[in-house]
Formats: sequence, C-alpha cells, structure tokens
Amino acid sequence: MDLIYVKDIDKSLLYQGFTIRTSLLKYFMEKFKKLSIGENRKISIILNDKIYTDIQVINQNFNREKYPNHPEMYQVRYTPQHAFSQALRILFPEITNYVDSQLTLNKTLKIQGRKTSNIKIPENMRCSIAFYTTENPNVWEALPIYATEFDQLKNKIAQYPINEPDFEDLLLNDNTAHFTQESHIIKIRKLNKNVCDNLKKIYGYRCQICGQLITTPYGNEKKVIDAHHIDPFITSLNNNFNNIMILCPNHHRIIHAYNPTFKLKNKEFLYPNGYKEGLLLNLHL
Ligand SMILES: [Zn+2]
Ligand SMILES: [Zn+2]
Repeated sequence: MDLIYVKDIDKSLLYQGFTIRTSLLKYFMEKFKKLSIGENRKISIILNDKIYTDIQVINQNFNREKYPNHPEMYQVRYTPQHAFSQALRILFPEITNYVDSQLTLNKTLKIQGRKTSNIKIPENMRCSIAFYTTENPNVWEALPIYATEFDQLKNKIAQYPINEPDFEDLLLNDNTAHFTQESHIIKIRKLNKNVCDNLKKIYGYRCQICGQLITTPYGNEKKVIDAHHIDPFITSLNNNFNNIMILCPNHHRIIHAYNPTFKLKNKEFLYPNGYKEGLLLNLHL
C-alpha cells in the first residue's frame, strides 16, 4: 500500500471532494494512468471495510495560457448526497457540526448583507484522512485519523526535549523504544514516514536547497537525505506534504542551528542576519 494523499477534514472534504497535485503522485500516476485535460474517471474508495463506488476523478481544466506555471490538479469529486460523503460526515461528527453551524451563520450574515468568512476548523478538532493505493489503481483505501490520536501523540512527544535536531529521525525510527504498542500513535508515525518517503522519491533523494544527491563514492544503497518539517512537527503534528521539505544533512543541520523563517510566498529562507536562500528544486510547495 502506497500513500496517495493526506487531507485535513474540512467543509470541502465533507461535502464535495478535494484536489490533489499530480506532481506529488509521480509513482502512483504511473499505475493510475494519466487523464487528459478535462477527462474524468470513476474510482472506488474503501473506508472502514465498506466500498464506495462512483467517485469521480477529474483532470481539472484551467486556462493554461493565463496560468502557465499552474501545477496540474486532479479533483476527486462527489455530491453531498453520495454515500461516501455521508459516511465521512458520520465519521467526523464534531467537525460536521461545526461546519454546519458556520454555514448557518454565514447564511444569516449574508441575509443581513454582512461579510462572511471562510470556514476554518479549530486546531483542537483537527482530524485527517489518508488515501492509499490498493492492487487496483482505481480502488483507493481511506484511513481516518482523529483529533484524539493527534492529542495522544502530542502528549507522548511532549516528553522529548524541543529543539532537538534529530527529533524527526527519532520519530521516524521504528526501533525507538519509547514508543510502545499504541496503535493510533503507530498509525500517525507510519503515515508521517510514508509522506516523507514519497517526497524523497519525488525529488530523487536530492536536497531541495542545493540539489545535492549523496551517492558515489559512498554507494547507492543507503539514501542519505532528510525530511524537514517547516512548522516543527513536535508542536504542529502537521505531516501534510506542504509542511515538509527534503534536505541534505548539511542544510538540515544549518536550518535547525540558525532557525531561519521560510517565506512561502518567495519560497526562500530568511536567516536572522538577513541572508536569503531559495530552493533549487521545488515541485510541491
Ligand atoms: Zn543541501
Ligand atoms: Zn528538521
């Protein structure tokens, strides 16, 4: 089973679907077979041992002359009445109630001619869902991850000293004795490792800052490359693709030592002394 995508639960996911960037899915796409622009395909999703059919994947059409650098997007779509959509709302009742109350509020505000805002799920309710491949490329499997699971992991990792540069390795290391047989924590750890491994593969094990690939004369069999969480995983528990960067061990050390801020808009690090360093490779941020 390979990870396809991880998505935080939000209004869109509960009622209509979500978007995935195909650049993140290089290995999956080889099996799934590309869709031409505007083309769609039906897939099925397995969730808690039930299979939901008739879910559409569309290669979203947009104005390619106007947005030449816009990454290719596939939309996974279902209606609010679709059984999968309903099952998601049953699985995540707290977020669903919150979204529904905000939708009602927005409706009232609109009637009164007042400004409405986008619905943002409070941090303490945060849940996610991970999609995995199966033998059949048109059948995916979904794995829900609940807020309580994030909470328990947070408590667990709070026992570790913060600012520990090796923490990410510690977290990904399956031999770490401190992590006991708690299935939810194992689930999140495994997921985190999967997301990181996928990204490492996408970049061909090269550093996103300097492009370095550590291979000859040392050999090819060990992949010496790190995954770094932009917003520290220890506090954010954010293991979505957009919070991870692939770095060589040198750049990884430097970033933890000098703690530069990453400016997402320009895709560059700003160091405390004013030095700026951009990304040589970037497919996903
Ligand atoms: Zn580097
Ligand atoms: Zn790091």
